[in-house]
Amino acid sequence: MRTDQPSLQSPSEHPDGADVAEHLTPASVPSSSGMTTPVMRQYLEIKERYADCILFFRLGDFYEMFYDDAVVASQILDLTLTARDKNRENPVPLCGVPHHAGKQYLAKLVAAGKKVAICEQIEDAKKTKKMVRRAVTQVVTPGVILDEEQLEPRAGHYLAAVCFGPGEAGVAYVDVSTGEFAGTTVGLADAEEELARIAPAELLIVSPDETLTGERAEKLASRLRIPIGHSKSQPPHVETRELAGLLDAEATPGPLLLSAGAACVRYARATQPTSGLPIFSLRLYQPGDSLVIDETTRTNLELLETLMERKRQGSLIGVLDHTKTAMGGRLLRRWLLAPLLHVSEIRRRQDAVAWAVAHQAARQGARELLAQVYDLERLAGRLGAGVATPRDLWSLGQGLRRLPGLRQLLTAEDGTQTPDLLTLPKDLGHALLAAIEAAIADNPPLLWREGGFIKPGFHAGLDELVELSRGGKAHIQHMEDRERERSGISSLKIRFNKIFGYYIEITRSNLSRVPSDYLRKQTTANAERYVTPELAEYEAKVLGAEERRMELELELFDKLRLELSVHTRQVLELGGRVASLDSLLGLAELAHKSGYSRPEVTDGLVLEIEEGRHPVIEAIAQRGRFVPNDTRLHPDEEQLLILTGPNMAGKSTVMRQVALIVLLAQLGSFVPAKRAVIGIADRICTRVGAADNLSRGDSTFMVEMRETSHILRRATRRSLVILDEIGRGTSTYDGVSIAWAVAEHLHNQVGCRTMFATHYHELAALAQTCPRVRNFSVAVRQRHGEIVFLHKLVEGGASRSFGIEVARLAGLPPSVVQRAKEILADLEDQSQGTPTTSQLPLFSHRAQDTTAPADTTSQTFSIEGAAVLAELAALDCDGLTPRQALDRLASLKSRLAAHT
Ligand code: ADP
Repeated sequence: MRTDQPSLQSPSEHPDGADVAEHLTPASVPSSSGMTTPVMRQYLEIKERYADCILFFRLGDFYEMFYDDAVVASQILDLTLTARDKNRENPVPLCGVPHHAGKQYLAKLVAAGKKVAICEQIEDAKKTKKMVRRAVTQVVTPGVILDEEQLEPRAGHYLAAVCFGPGEAGVAYVDVSTGEFAGTTVGLADAEEELARIAPAELLIVSPDETLTGERAEKLASRLRIPIGHSKSQPPHVETRELAGLLDAEATPGPLLLSAGAACVRYARATQPTSGLPIFSLRLYQPGDSLVIDETTRTNLELLETLMERKRQGSLIGVLDHTKTAMGGRLLRRWLLAPLLHVSEIRRRQDAVAWAVAHQAARQGARELLAQVYDLERLAGRLGAGVATPRDLWSLGQGLRRLPGLRQLLTAEDGTQTPDLLTLPKDLGHALLAAIEAAIADNPPLLWREGGFIKPGFHAGLDELVELSRGGKAHIQHMEDRERERSGISSLKIRFNKIFGYYIEITRSNLSRVPSDYLRKQTTANAERYVTPELAEYEAKVLGAEERRMELELELFDKLRLELSVHTRQVLELGGRVASLDSLLGLAELAHKSGYSRPEVTDGLVLEIEEGRHPVIEAIAQRGRFVPNDTRLHPDEEQLLILTGPNMAGKSTVMRQVALIVLLAQLGSFVPAKRAVIGIADRICTRVGAADNLSRGDSTFMVEMRETSHILRRATRRSLVILDEIGRGTSTYDGVSIAWAVAEHLHNQVGCRTMFATHYHELAALAQTCPRVRNFSVAVRQRHGEIVFLHKLVEGGASRSFGIEVARLAGLPPSVVQRAKEILADLEDQSQGTPTTSQLPLFSHRAQDTTAPADTTSQTFSIEGAAVLAELAALDCDGLTPRQALDRLASLKSRLAAHT
C-alpha cells in the first residue's frame, strides 16, 4: 500500500506544504508585531505556512488561537476573546480551547467552512530544557475529514476539484475516509450538474491563472453552497508524478482531468504532513455510464431527503435502505444515484437479490452477522492514514472475525451455485486478524492515551513493567498493614495524589503515636501527612514503572499500526465486497417484507407496470389503503400520457411511482408492482410544480422554464420524462400555450416516454392531432356534493378541475367557497362552458369554428407559435453573444409574422 503512496513530507520540506496555504485568504498577521518571545516567533513561523487555516497552537493543556484566527474562532465558537500581553500597546487577540475538548471545537469550525491546522508539541516538555518543538500534524478541512464522529456514516464525504478548459472541464473527487477516487471530463455546460451530483463538501477550482475562473467560482460557490478554494494547475509532468501509482496502465485521462485529479491528491495529502492517506486508483467514468438523474430530479423524486423538511425519513432511501452496515448504506446510496444501464449488470444484481429472497434463513443469519461488522472501509481509511486508535484496530478485528461465518452462511447447501455477488474472496484478512488479536486487548479503552490496550503476552518487556507497577501497589498495601501494626494506629492510611505522590496520613487524634522515623510532609485540616524513606523508594519504582509502561505501550502501538497499514488496501476491498453483499441482502429483505417482485429488464423501450405502487407512500399509507395502478408507455404507441384530474387525486403519485419503479429496477432492486417490464431508460427527467428556488434568486416561473428547457434539450427517445404541471407560474393563456407546445415537442421531436400531469384539461385535445398521446385521468366520484378520490387511473381526460371542491376540503371558509361557486357559474355562463384552446387568443386568431377544440387552421398557427415559444423557452441566453441574440430575435419574429 505504502508503495503507491509517496510518503508525505512536512510542509516545510515539501512544496505541497504551501499548497494548503495557497487556497486561503491571507490572515492579517502582522509580521513585525513586536512579539519577540520565542514561542510567538515559533507561532508566527508556523502560521505563515498555514495562512489559510485557523491554527490550533498547542500550549500546554490548551490549543490557543491568536490574531484574526482568535477573532474569527471566538465568534464561531462563542468563546471569550482576550488578549495576550494586555498591557502592551498592541495586545494580541487570543482565545483558546482545552486540548481534551479540541475535537468538538474543531468540528464546529470545519462545519462553518473553515480549515483548521492542528499544531502539536512534538516532544515531551519534561525532556527538554529548551522551547518545545511544535509542528502541524494534521489539517482538517471541510472536504478532508478522517474523524469518524464528524462524518455522516451513510454518505460519502467528498473533496472535489474542477479544472475548466476551452469547451470542457475535468472533474475529480476523492473521499479520503475510504480512498474512493474518481474523475471524468464533461462539457462546460455539464460541469455544474456533475458537481451537484457529487455534492462535495469542498471544491477546488483549478486553473493556470486564478483570475480566469473568478466569476465561475463565484457562481459555483453560491450554487453549491460549499467552501471553494483555488489551486494553480501544475506542469503536466508534475501532475502526472503526483498521480503516480494512482493511474491504471490503460487509463488515459485528458489534461483537464489530470489537473483536477492531481489537485485533489495534492490538497488532500498536504493535510496529513506526517503520515499517508489511502487514495486509490483514479476510476475514470462518463456521466452517461449510468442512468442520468439530474439534481432537480433527485430533489423532486425525494431520493435522499424529503422536499419540504429535508428529512431522510419519507425519502426513497429511507424506505430502500435495509442495510446493516454504514458502508452498505453508502454503497446503496451510490447505486441509487447512478443506476445501471446494462441489462446483464442489472440481472447480476437481481440474481443475488432473488437468491437472498429465496434463502430466508441464510439471509437472516447473514444480516445478523453483518450487524456486528464495523465500517471496514473507514477503519481502513484511518489505518492507512496512520490515525487508527487501538479501538479502531479492535473493531476491525471484530469485523474480520465475522467474515468466515458470513461466507459459510451464503454458501448454498442445496448444491446450487450462490450468485457471484454474494460470494466472498478466499483471503478474508486472516493475517491481519491474527496480528490484531495477538496485540490488542479485548474491548480497549476509548481514552487510550494512558495505555491499557495491549494484550498481556504480546511483549515480554511490557508484561514485566505491568507486573512491577501492580506488584508495587500490592507492596504498598502490605506496607500499610505493617505500619498500622507498628504504630498501633488503625486509621493509618497510605495514600497517593499527583502532587505529593505517596504519603502516610495520620488523623489529629493519633498524632501522639506517630513513629519517630516519619518525616512530616504536609498539614491538612484534620490530619498530618508523612513519608518514610522506604515509602519514597517504592514510590519511585512504582511510578517509574507506570510511566515506562505507558510509553512502551504507545511505542508498541505506533509500530504495530505502521506495520498493519500494509493491509489497508485489502481491508478496503473486503469492505467493498461486504458493502455490496449488505446492500443486496437489504434489497432482498425489503422485497420480502414489502411484497416486491422481480422486474423484467430489457433493452427494448416498453414500460409496462401492472399494479404498481409508490414505494414511499405505500409505506406511509395504512395497510391495504394504497390503490395500485397499471401503466404502459411505449415510444411507438402510448408515448405521452396526459393526466388530468383535480388536485389531490393522485396524479403526482402515480407519475413518481413510475419513475421510482424504473429507477429501482435499474439499480437492481425488485419493485413494488405485481409485474413489470422495464425497457432501460438512459435518463429520468422531472419537472415538478412546487420546486422553490427563490432562495437562489430566481423567480418560480423562471426556474420552471429553465428546468423545462433543460429537459427538452437533454431527453432522448430512451428517456423517461415526468412533467407535473407546466406553465403554472404565468397567466393561464401563456401557461396553456407553453404546456401545449412542450407536449407537442416531446411528441413530435423527442419521442420519449412521457407522463404529463396538468390541471389544464384543455390539453386533452392534443390527442386529436398527436397520434401517440393518450388521455388519462385520476378518477373521482362525487357524493352529496363532495368529492371522493379513488386514486385510480382511468382512460379519458377529466372534464373539470374540481378546484373549488378541493379548496373546500382544505378548509376555505364556506362563504368564500359559496362565492367562488357563484363566480365560476357566471364565468361558465359567459363562455358557454369552459374555454377551449381555440378560444385562447393565440389559437383563436384564425379560428373559424370556436367550438372545435383545435381546428386545422388554428393548429397551423399554434404549432408555429408554440414552436417559437418552445424555442424561446429553451434559449440559453447566457450562452449567446449580443449579436447572436439579435439574430435569433429577428428570426423568431419573422417566423411569427409569416403566420399572422
Ligand atoms: P395530485 O398530484 O393529483 O394533486 P397527489 O399525487 O399529490 O395528487 O396525491 C395526493 C394524496 O393522495 C397523496 O399525498 C396520497 O396521500 C394520496 N394518494 C395518491 N395516490 C394514491 C393511491 N394510489 N393510493 C392511496 N393514496 C393515494
